[in-house]
Amino acid sequence: MEKPDLKNYTLAQLTETLATMGLPAYRAKQVFAWIYRPGMPNFARMTDLSLPIRGELEERYQISWLAPVRRELSEDGTCKYAFRLADGNVIESVLIPEEDRNTLCLSSQVGCAMGCRFCLTATMGFVRNLTPAEMVNQVCTVAEELHAKGQAVNNLVFMGMGEPLANFDQLATAIAILTNNYGLAFSSRRITVSTCGLIPRIIELGEKTRVNLAVSLHAADDDKRNQLMPVNRTYPIADLLNALREFPLPPRRRIMIEYIMINGLNDADTDAELLARKLHGISCKINLLPCNETSAMGYGPSPMARIERFQQILRNHGYTALLRTSRGADISAACGQLAAQTPSGCPSE
Ligand code: SAH
Repeated sequence: MEKPDLKNYTLAQLTETLATMGLPAYRAKQVFAWIYRPGMPNFARMTDLSLPIRGELEERYQISWLAPVRRELSEDGTCKYAFRLADGNVIESVLIPEEDRNTLCLSSQVGCAMGCRFCLTATMGFVRNLTPAEMVNQVCTVAEELHAKGQAVNNLVFMGMGEPLANFDQLATAIAILTNNYGLAFSSRRITVSTCGLIPRIIELGEKTRVNLAVSLHAADDDKRNQLMPVNRTYPIADLLNALREFPLPPRRRIMIEYIMINGLNDADTDAELLARKLHGISCKINLLPCNETSAMGYGPSPMARIERFQQILRNHGYTALLRTSRGADISAACGQLAAQTPSGCPSE
């Protein structure tokens, strides 16, 4: 049988599991800190633990690591990583360097079950949920590469493959690991979870974590949203927006509303007016983003003049509306373009 992977445990869970070996809580803290320190984690380097303890840990547990099978660098500096998981599945993460920070876009599932019409990941269908370790390891690997260059990962966004809130428990565990001060010590403010709108899990996220929430809205009326996002038939716009009104936001924070601009579909002045009306009372900022072409699906980006006009209407209503530039399109690393090739099509290093 596979040895349990210590990277699946929060500090509290690690403390519990090591207690079965008779180790006190402070030992668990030491082990946890070693796992997430820069460099390849292994039991041998845990030099503040005695040799017999290290030996016993090694016998019972493993500490996983994800090596990239491929890296692709965009002209704009965006880097797409492909990782092959232990079962052969491949996931992707995208590192987006900005002037003052590095953002890493993480996957939460292999494939996705949500079936959004404009998204390439959806065409893979749902394969499986990622474990906490598989989510955390995307960060560990990229952080290690940046560390070697004197840099760090500053921001995490769960906007890669999958619907993070459809994998809630494992996501919550991963967030607990990522934010623990003895480990990677990310502030919750630097983590954003994006969802297509699973209302019960949005409420749960607000109750259990303090991370930022992003919602892929993409349309202001149910007819259009039903057409674009099947999830809207279960969780229609009015219910979704009510949940956002009640979302427990920490002070000075806002919900990010994502809205992709699809030529001729959701980009008219009337769409902007309706959006402005419906978002009333929600503390939010709106990110407009030209739809990336995803081959056969027939949706294209709105012309820039249209996007700017749409943005202006939202601003006239007092909203913060930002135009997000698409990054990494030349390496299929842009939003909605992540769809890993089958493992056999994925060259090894
Ligand atoms: N499932 C979550 C997390 C994925 S985030 C969610 O839906 O929010 C990926 C973001 O890229 C989402 O906002 C998604 O709607 C958007 N996206 C998908 N296809 C796209 C495309 N063709 N062009 C631009 N954005 C797209």
